[in-house]
Amino acid sequence: MARLTRYDLPEFITFPGGFVIAIKRVTPAEMKTLAGEGQVCDGLWMVDDLTIYIVRGISKKRAAYVALHELVHCCHDLAHALVNKGYGRA
Ligand SMILES: [Zn+2]
Repeated sequence: MARLTRYDLPEFITFPGGFVIAIKRVTPAEMKTLAGEGQVCDGLWMVDDLTIYIVRGISKKRAAYVALHELVHCCHDLAHALVNKGYGRA
């Protein structure tokens, strides 16, 4: 596996619990569709398809920040998913 440089984003991340999430870049038009009418955002975590979407056209530094912000939401959801399966007490 190639080592990522400072602001590269991985295409997939594997988490404890066996979750594999994807990071996909999308056009601004695609992001508008994903986010819903009237929503403006550079990143979006979609738990239903275990994917973080990041809009194209932002700087690498901004994209790295947005990815980490969305990963916080992702981690909360994945942790809750494990709790719902009873892993919190096992
Ligand atoms: Zn947020």
